[in-house]
Amino acid sequence: MNDRLKYTVPLILFAITVGFAFNNDFRDGSFTLLLMVGYIMFFIVVKREDQSEEPDNSGIATASGIPRTPYQLYHGDELNFSDEELKAILTKRFPYYNQLSAIQKERFLERLQDFIANKVFKIHDKTGFKEMPVLISAAAIQLTFGLKKYLLPNFEFIHVYPEEFVRIHDTICFLEGNVSGHAINLSWKHFLEGYATPDDGQNVGLHELAHALYYQTFIVEENIDNNFRNGFDDFNINGNKVFAQESKPGNDLYSDYALKNFQEFWAESAEIFFEKPAAMKAAYPELYDTIKLLLNQDPYNKIATETTL
Ligand SMILES: [Zn+2]
Repeated sequence: MNDRLKYTVPLILFAITVGFAFNNDFRDGSFTLLLMVGYIMFFIVVKREDQSEEPDNSGIATASGIPRTPYQLYHGDELNFSDEELKAILTKRFPYYNQLSAIQKERFLERLQDFIANKVFKIHDKTGFKEMPVLISAAAIQLTFGLKKYLLPNFEFIHVYPEEFVRIHDTICFLEGNVSGHAINLSWKHFLEGYATPDDGQNVGLHELAHALYYQTFIVEENIDNNFRNGFDDFNINGNKVFAQESKPGNDLYSDYALKNFQEFWAESAEIFFEKPAAMKAAYPELYDTIKLLLNQDPYNKIATETTL
């Protein structure tokens, strides 16, 4: 029911009630009775209206304070982007793609099409933009480009919010992104900032996808990439050494947030590895080499994959 009808129906009932009561000089109980009927109708109408709204999206609301955000739903297998459209978007906004060889670009596009077709995109805004599914999927392809498995099938849903969103949990916190259940949640504003400055070590897209890749491999334990799984033991060993070093004053390649726990350390390692490979290699060469093998990529030498897959 639309808003106009919602308010007009009880108003008309109320007018009839008052009119009827005047006509009878308030002599009998019909005034009260009809008033009650009017209000019962009003509550039925409002109740129906409430039930017809979008379901609450797992306690997630936008930063603007609107508790239930309508979203645009796009099934990736119905988007049918042409390779030309993808190329145009990547060339404009995705520096990683531009440095690939012609053969690698082709493989990137193939994987990108495949990834998009396997996801459902929920854009929590009035309009969705083509660039949203394309670039977020491209970040996944970048991270996993040296691996055999790249679809992250546990994560069927990708939620895109215009800006920071609020998670109402034990505490309220503003988030630029997170991974939960079968969903990857991202703030579009922060995602774009990550790629607009590709050398500051901050990239929320790569950060969340690194969480997702870990989750797919070690928590869900399905569709596992063996190179990644086997290489992670070495990352644990070298990463813990660097984690301890970075916790001491004077070392600041990592943010304080990365030192909250080892999961955040891993996610930020992926960001720094791609965005500041020279700084990582200089400060922690062993860690750089470990991630190079883990992801089978060498951004320091601008090599997207170490071996042909
Ligand atoms: Zn994180």
